[in-house]
Amino acid sequence: MGKEVLVLEASADVGGVWHHNGYPGARCDVESYDYSYSFSPELEQEWRWSERYATQPEILRYIHHVVERFDLRRDIRFNTRMRSARYDEEQALWLITAEDGAQWQARYLLMCVGQLSTTKAPSFAGQEKFTGRIIHSGLWPKEPVSFAGKRVGIIGTGSSGMQMTPIIAQQAEHLTVFQRTPNYSIASANAPVSDEEDQRVKASYRARREQAWNSPSGLGFMPNKQSALQATPQEREQVYEAAWNRLGFGFALAYYDILLDQAANDTAADFIRRKIAALVKDPVVRDKLTPRGHPFGARRPSVDSGYFQAFNRANVELADVREAPIVEFTATGLRTQAKHHELDMVIFATGFDAFTGSLLKPEIVGRGGMALREKWAQGPVTQLGVAVADFPNLFIVVGPGSPSLLSNVLVSTEEQIDWLAQLLRHMDDSGALEFEATHAAERDWVAHVNQRARETLYLSTDSYYNGAEVAGKPRVFMPYSGGVRGYRRLLQNCVARGYEGFELRNQPLGTRSTP
Ligand code: NAP
Repeated sequence: MGKEVLVLEASADVGGVWHHNGYPGARCDVESYDYSYSFSPELEQEWRWSERYATQPEILRYIHHVVERFDLRRDIRFNTRMRSARYDEEQALWLITAEDGAQWQARYLLMCVGQLSTTKAPSFAGQEKFTGRIIHSGLWPKEPVSFAGKRVGIIGTGSSGMQMTPIIAQQAEHLTVFQRTPNYSIASANAPVSDEEDQRVKASYRARREQAWNSPSGLGFMPNKQSALQATPQEREQVYEAAWNRLGFGFALAYYDILLDQAANDTAADFIRRKIAALVKDPVVRDKLTPRGHPFGARRPSVDSGYFQAFNRANVELADVREAPIVEFTATGLRTQAKHHELDMVIFATGFDAFTGSLLKPEIVGRGGMALREKWAQGPVTQLGVAVADFPNLFIVVGPGSPSLLSNVLVSTEEQIDWLAQLLRHMDDSGALEFEATHAAERDWVAHVNQRARETLYLSTDSYYNGAEVAGKPRVFMPYSGGVRGYRRLLQNCVARGYEGFELRNQPLGTRSTP
């Protein structure tokens, strides 16, 4: 588009979460061909994925390839964290200041800071006394970490904890998994990509993309039009078995009402519980690993490669910290209310301050001195998930109020960036200098996001979708649950109606004389 662009990157290299989450077993739950950029047919054709679900090193290699291929590195300033951004109302420019004091002025500010990039770790009593090593899954060291001969503890059983457990179990002398909430997980149907499959996908890549763009979550799966409650138990068993054996996340769409209706969900949850039961030998451990009390999919489920089976190993122990919470760290391990665990290393797989953590870290100040932290004190407020009233020319990518973490984020990112590019072109053509969401549009959008969430089971339990992962965080539903296809239609309708819900101004509002 001929624009001058500068990317500020807090890390020393590209990759975002795939740069930081180098823990053993890290792998994407979205199929490789779908978890990739669609903007370049040449890129699509030349990249060869080796597995159906790519590992973290392979995804990082892909990201590096994209950066080199499109010569993006020269526009990126590494080791540069934005400290603040202040909007100059008269000039319609953002004044951006980095932690190191460097400053820039920019017409547009795009926040691409990720939804799971601010790690979250509890601080336990006596943690400073521990003489072993503590590592957070989301800040994994760049040098190899050896588990050989070590007694390792993992705190947390979300996707990160579940992915690393079977790998560390194989390498460590002893592994203790500290579990607070058992998680649903679908067995990964991972497989190497054959040359035939690669050729087949590449011969009709556009059709595959169309399918992803038109599916609810950008994964290419269309929901079964039937209700789980209309099928006979035998039919359901067959449908669930087929979904379990191939679909990963797509399991949630085996019937259209699994995420909408508690009774329908019970049938899916019950199937998964029976699968877990068949995988775990010890009845007490099996019982503790079984998720109950929250619907399948209402918290983010995992797609695992041998998680439950790892507990059949003699060197793996499950510590139920809901039943017997962690009391303190000691010099040689940690103590729960049940016993002391001798440990050489503790891994915090305790997650992130999701959706808003990284957006609210820098001080972003818009029109009239309004700070984003102040504006979002009761929870994020946006128009269409992309912009915020009082913050002209600020664009949020894959943030709250958009499909974001309920979708294939590659699809959602491209969907929003294409829309933004169209907006900027329109502004260039019409001489507009400012775009800004209106307060009325924001109110309507937040109401719509909440309405769509109420139609689902997402609100029926605590999760990072609704701010429950951080004490004191506003308890509001963060992502948009209306799906990527529906969301794209809303973005398009907004354009067709002359950027409805936004004001586009040729003269910045701040330069107008007040009556
Ligand atoms: P997470 O899903 O938020 O899980 C954090 C875990 O830590 C939960 O089991 C939580 O228990 C536990 N925990 C937190 N504080 C604790 C405490 N004080 N004591 C004991 N347990 C505690 O985090 P995550 O596993 O890092 O995953 C975050 C998200 O990243 C995923 O949902 C996914 O979106 C993404 N991710 C994706 C992939 C992939 O594509 N394959 C892999 C990894 C991560 P409670 O549930 O009881 O709070």
